[in-house]
Amino acid sequence: MTARILVVDDIPANVKLLEARLLAEYFDVLTADDGFKALDICRGTHVDLVLLDIMMPGISGFDVCERLKADQRTAHIPVVMVTALDQPADRVRGLKAGADDFLTKPVNDLQLISRVKSLVRLKTLSDELRIRAETAQNIGIEDMLKGPDGRDEPGQVLLVDGRASSHERIIKALKPIAHVVAISDPQAALFEAAENPFDLVIVNANLEEYDPLRLCSHLRSLERTRFLPLLLVTEPGAEDVIARALDIGVNDYIVRPIDPNELLARSLTQIKRKRFNDRLRTSLRQTIELAVTDGLTGLHNRRYLDNHLRTLFDRAAARGRSLSICIADIDHFKEVNDTHGHDVGDEVLKEFANRIRSTVRGADLACRYGGEEFVLVMPDTDADVASAIAERLRNLIASEPFVLKKAGLTLTITASLGVASNDGGAETREQLLKQADRALYEAKSGGRDRVVLSGPPREATDLRSIESIAFPTKLQKVV
Ligand code: GH3
Ligand code: MG
Ligand code: MG
Repeated sequence: MTARILVVDDIPANVKLLEARLLAEYFDVLTADDGFKALDICRGTHVDLVLLDIMMPGISGFDVCERLKADQRTAHIPVVMVTALDQPADRVRGLKAGADDFLTKPVNDLQLISRVKSLVRLKTLSDELRIRAETAQNIGIEDMLKGPDGRDEPGQVLLVDGRASSHERIIKALKPIAHVVAISDPQAALFEAAENPFDLVIVNANLEEYDPLRLCSHLRSLERTRFLPLLLVTEPGAEDVIARALDIGVNDYIVRPIDPNELLARSLTQIKRKRFNDRLRTSLRQTIELAVTDGLTGLHNRRYLDNHLRTLFDRAAARGRSLSICIADIDHFKEVNDTHGHDVGDEVLKEFANRIRSTVRGADLACRYGGEEFVLVMPDTDADVASAIAERLRNLIASEPFVLKKAGLTLTITASLGVASNDGGAETREQLLKQADRALYEAKSGGRDRVVLSGPPREATDLRSIESIAFPTKLQKVV
């Protein structure tokens, strides 16, 4: 992990010490010996995390933190306050100023690095979300990508703690940010964590005759809990346990006796991380869906068709299987718009898509190719069967008038359809589409409301004139 850390302290020896430790972990380090310089650096350059001393001449660490958090440009940078151990009141003030976490002087190596890594990970996620939010805003899909904001909703925390007496204290400490479910039995906890949407599991290492790390490792390996943040509560001096815990994927730890503010800060970081992660995953899924779906009809869009048809075409060729496509274009659709308005046109398009949907099999791919043109891709389907399916679709459109509820209208709609199959000589998907398009053109010029199958080697054929195709029996085979 590489990140840029700003170390702020007025005593040069302190700066040097932290700088050396961070450099040893390959972090990029900037330094400042007073708060004003720190503010300038944060506003002027990219900073991933600030380690901030409190007692400094000129402007105190609290004030620096407050100013960072109040400024749009710097509010997202995590701030770790470096406090004296005997000053719990400093932490309360630090939290009020917006600090994200604390380190105690003299700074212990393991604490420094685990704290920095944990917050840098969180920052990476929130940066990604901010970039996506900006992109979404630019292309106008912002609202569709909006999710619940992790900051405001209380977190759901599972506390696994062998001693009922400490449940109360932890529940109380987390009250401002989370709802806590406390359990003493580790097995029951595992079940609980798998069954419910928690944002964080806190494991107290005081479990009766049960290795707390085993519970952590189970939680990490189960499909349903592997993204759940884990926070371990340990005895002082248990450095080896902490090192192993971080190794198996525990996200952070806290040493007893628990400082409620520290617990609060650390839990909040993990809850935020979980929420950010969830939102990223959801927004990724939604982005993908939006990118391949036609907004009006809910069918796949042209971009998806172009990509997917390539796969289907090549696969059919490689396996020597048939593949057919059908392009359907609504007849005189411009008149619908011109006579009844664009909204009615849209309603017709939606109903048209519904009828296509109702007639295709699961393996078929239905897309809105553009305007009032739709494409149906039928894998493992030869020209005869594809023509029969197209004819069934034509009939489904023409035989039942479109009842447009919103417009309060009933319209008779027809469509022309061109069919092409990969046994008709097409060597690429582009050629196949072109053949189907040519067949469609013939269907239009031949009088509309008809299906034409492309040649060569077959002659272009008006299917309605072919008596030999027994639709019902053929169709039953493919439904
Ligand atoms: P043809 O029988 O030859 O296909 O005639 P047509 O009128 O259906 O075809 P043409 O290509 O001349 O017109 C298509 C019309 O479809 C023009 C365009 O304004 C309209 N259109 C395209 N996309 C949409 C849409 O999303 N909503 C609505 N309401 N109309 C659309
Ligand atoms: Mg048309
Ligand atoms: Mg058209």
